[in-house]
Amino acid sequence: MHSIKVLDKEFEPYLSEKEIQEKINELAVQLNKDYAGKKPIFLSILNGSFLFTADLFKQITIEAEVCFIKLASYKGMTSSGNVITAIGLEANVTGRHIIIMEDIIDTGKTLHHYLPQLASSGPASVKIAVLLNKKEARQFSVNVDYTCFEIPNKFVVGYGLDYDGLGRNSKDIYQLK
Ligand code: 5GP
Ligand code: MG
Repeated sequence: MHSIKVLDKEFEPYLSEKEIQEKINELAVQLNKDYAGKKPIFLSILNGSFLFTADLFKQITIEAEVCFIKLASYKGMTSSGNVITAIGLEANVTGRHIIIMEDIIDTGKTLHHYLPQLASSGPASVKIAVLLNKKEARQFSVNVDYTCFEIPNKFVVGYGLDYDGLGRNSKDIYQLK
């Protein structure tokens, strides 16, 4: 693996495809156990989570569904910002077990704002699975149930994660130099 350039920024190798896929396989084994007989819905948050969701879902051997939503955050007049739903939830989640799939949790703002909305639909349970967890960056409290990698507070790209729309189509994850 060697460094890459995305637009004006240099990124160095951080997590290899092999490491990523191994962690995802371990997570799938765990979820197949924890959700056996519960017919969970994997709720993937676009755009960043599409590869993580696809690779994980291929390893799910129990009865399960997958659906997608798109959340966008706006920095308005206030520093806390605002999270809007750009593509909403089609599935009926009432009484269902939900596993939220996120590529990365940073400040926690996105999920902190979305969780009450999801809860109002009356799911049986809601758990959060993340590929990357930037604990140090947290500003809004969110309970993460399944984490593939704890990472430092540095900007990363690749494997679904973008820099200004680019860099998502990399099998490995890179860190800003
Ligand atoms: P949060 O709401 O937890 O602050 O941030 C969630 C979203 O911010 C992620 O889903 C992701 O889209 C974006 N994000 C946060 N940190 C990074 C990062 O290091 N790299 C990239 N590409 N996106 C990030
Ligand atoms: Mg995301």
